Amino acid sequence: MKIIVKCSLVFLLVLFVSIALVTAENIYADGDFWTDETFSLVVLGSRGGPRIDDVSGFMIWPVEKPEEAIVFDPGVLTVGIRKADEKNNLWDFRVPEDSNLTREGWILQNIKAYLVSHAHLDHIAAMVINSPEDSAKDIIATDTTLTHLQDNIFNWEIWPNFGDAGPEPHLGQYSYVSLNHMEEMSINNTSMNVQAFELMHDPPTKSTAFLIEHDENYMLLFGDTGPDEIQETDHLNNIWHEIAPLIREDKLKGILLEVAYTSDRPDGLLFGHFTPKWMMEELNNLAEIVDPDNPEEALEGLSLLVTHIKPKFVHEPTPRQVIEKELNELNNLGINFIIPYQGHRYNF
Ligand SMILES: [Zn+2]
Ligand SMILES: [Zn+2]
Repeated sequence: MKIIVKCSLVFLLVLFVSIALVTAENIYADGDFWTDETFSLVVLGSRGGPRIDDVSGFMIWPVEKPEEAIVFDPGVLTVGIRKADEKNNLWDFRVPEDSNLTREGWILQNIKAYLVSHAHLDHIAAMVINSPEDSAKDIIATDTTLTHLQDNIFNWEIWPNFGDAGPEPHLGQYSYVSLNHMEEMSINNTSMNVQAFELMHDPPTKSTAFLIEHDENYMLLFGDTGPDEIQETDHLNNIWHEIAPLIREDKLKGILLEVAYTSDRPDGLLFGHFTPKWMMEELNNLAEIVDPDNPEEALEGLSLLVTHIKPKFVHEPTPRQVIEKELNELNNLGINFIIPYQGHRYNF
């Protein structure tokens, strides 16, 4: 009897340790599929200028479908792909055996579309420079942004015309797909849909937020913008009203929102960007809309990836360190702030 009890105890202990190990491995493994996560995201570039190798670039795909990857703001492409691959964060991208392409070449060509928030160089540079080795795909943006690309970038003077409009001849590798304020469409060759919202950036420059959907789950991707109060618009307020129901129904998996500067930056020098102080002001507005009776809990646990921190070539504390500290101190809403690194992978 004693032996049986002992054996059972040992068995239970082994079982418990095994379960604990498997669970731990799943929690820490990148991109595990056992959770209810909808989107995988790899940070190709995490910041705003002036670090040319780490400006904006986010590759996103439905967790089980890396073949459907899109990129939001192709400021960085192959440099970020290489860095993520070195960290084994693109493990589910498999280059076919009969392909002669390197992994970075194949993963670049596998991308199905670029969503471009605006045509500032830190958001499009790699799309231009990598274009000779890229595959045919859609560039989805507002008419304003597409016009900037057509007239000022792919115009045979700054760069060959890889687009399908503008100065002739058209190389036609990129199809300009117009998506204006409040319009929705499905993203070709993927199972994702996208809706656009107009943003004000550094006037008169406009920018765009994209709401992407897969399986009735959503992510909201903001291009460069600043608070309504400073920009004298109601663009953000309108977006908050649009997405409030998704938050109430727990369908909004994450937000990408920019913070360019530390909170001591004077309001007159924001140039259409956020500071932590202003970001928390806007998120408190959103919380009031989501649940006016209980705003302090309305956004609890919501994941928000902080993009576009502008590095300075200074010794510590760096803008990133200051912004991280400020967000932690100001976070009265229990938001899960993620300050990303280039090459890292996050699931939402
Ligand atoms: Zn920017
Ligand atoms: Zn910009």
